Amino acid sequence: MTKYIFVTGGVLSSLGKGITAASVGTLLKHSGFDVGMLKIDPYINVDPGTMSPLEHGEVFVTKDGAETDLDIGNYERFLDASFLKSANFTTGQVYSSVIERERSGGYLGQTIQVIPHIVGEIVNRIKKAGEGHDILVVELGGTVGDIEGLPFMEAIRQMKHDEEVEGTFFIHVTLIPYIKAAGEMKSKPTQHSVQELRRIGITPQMIIARSENALPKTFKKKLAMSCDVHPDSVIEALDAATIYDIPVTFLRQNILKSISKELELGELNPDMEEWDTLVKKIVQPKHKTVVGFVGKYLELKEAYKSLTESLIHCGAHLDARVEIEWVDSEEIEEKGAEALLADCDSVLVAGGFGSRGIEGKIQAIEYARVNRVPYLGICLGMQLTLVEYARNILGLEGANSVEFDEETPHPMVYLIDNFLDQNGGAQLRTHESPMGGTLRLGEYPCDTKDGSLIQKAYNGAKTIHERHRHRYEANPAYRAQLEKAGMIVTGESNGLIETVEIEGHPWFLGVQFHPEFTSRLQTPNASILAFVEASLNAE
Ligand code: GLN
Repeated sequence: MTKYIFVTGGVLSSLGKGITAASVGTLLKHSGFDVGMLKIDPYINVDPGTMSPLEHGEVFVTKDGAETDLDIGNYERFLDASFLKSANFTTGQVYSSVIERERSGGYLGQTIQVIPHIVGEIVNRIKKAGEGHDILVVELGGTVGDIEGLPFMEAIRQMKHDEEVEGTFFIHVTLIPYIKAAGEMKSKPTQHSVQELRRIGITPQMIIARSENALPKTFKKKLAMSCDVHPDSVIEALDAATIYDIPVTFLRQNILKSISKELELGELNPDMEEWDTLVKKIVQPKHKTVVGFVGKYLELKEAYKSLTESLIHCGAHLDARVEIEWVDSEEIEEKGAEALLADCDSVLVAGGFGSRGIEGKIQAIEYARVNRVPYLGICLGMQLTLVEYARNILGLEGANSVEFDEETPHPMVYLIDNFLDQNGGAQLRTHESPMGGTLRLGEYPCDTKDGSLIQKAYNGAKTIHERHRHRYEANPAYRAQLEKAGMIVTGESNGLIETVEIEGHPWFLGVQFHPEFTSRLQTPNASILAFVEASLNAE
């Protein structure tokens, strides 16, 4: 049987509930438990796959090919584990499955209602995510009081009394504002949000208070009293130098004491030594390198969350600060690559969709190739290396990806109309296919070529596994021509081109997959690690 920890948010959003949930999960995992994680998103979208990264941040892809909320990425990076589709669901998914069952006669004439049917479906999904784990940490998106959140609140309330549930623990994450003019910290918003929770029937057993300043003891006491929790169960969450320091700061406040008491977990002594060493290297590294990060969603860095985090992981393992020089690809089009990238030790072109900034990215690739600067191109960043090579080395005028020019005379990157998906099933893709549901998603194996950078990066592994999220593929019709001219295919998956390198270049790698999705603090991704190493060693 599984025990459940529910994490709700109060006062306002963006309090770092995801990191809080991940930190609690991490401490329990390091205490020896099998910990599962679940993020519930109250929005109506079936998944975040078609949501703008500008609005919602990155879409994180799980091993089994689900497009999920970026918090799942936080969970994987903290717990050093792969979570599956079942680790994230939305209101849209809940309603779809209930309606589908109703249409197929699954309710035998009943009137379908929020209570019990929608709430029942939510409870079932939470329990399913908990199966096989000692503890499931459930993060409920949104803020207490949101209309969309109500059925979920009701579901977790009901689970307190569920016979199949071994124990529940409720954590409420809130904000303690500081009013400068009065020189005071304010507990009222937290009190109100706890009252709102209690009105729904949930009494939180722990308050995690985000605050700019440390909470004085007397304030903690007052907060405990007014929120009806034990003073030991008021945990402060101050702004940290790195998010990876948060589990350790929680541990110092003895966060596990009341969790363990309520859930009867016994005495807990999480081993955080290795973790702590890595955190120290993030905060005070010996070396430094500058990566020119070429992208288009620079207004919202959350769109590249996994990638920027992976650079931090690699830095921690190499004792280096990886400084990111954000370079807007459209600005390259105006000012030229040299002007914007000359101070960088290496160049990284990230993935993306749509034609904005494409030519600037191609110029950045040309700059890295010609000047022998270490280069990593991810997904679109690989596809465009083929286009650049075709135009500038093979002399194929107008070469492009059909994503940007359907009529290109040289479709270096094209749309294959069928491929085998992860489960070996045939998938059909055309220009008319619906946007959601036509991507190559999730983990695929990739066979590496002997002597290649990619094989070396993965310690000589002949087959590696990485995750994908893209619609287009490198066109094998140009492979022989490219290879003859020095651009070598060094990774393949069932005939699909997965990685390319350039002969004689010190470090140039394009990968069709997204290596950032498998990078964790404790086990950084191998291709990104090798790239950062090359960046550190660059003159
Ligand atoms: N737009 C490209 C494609 O769909 C690349 C996608 C990406 O970089 N994730 O294939």
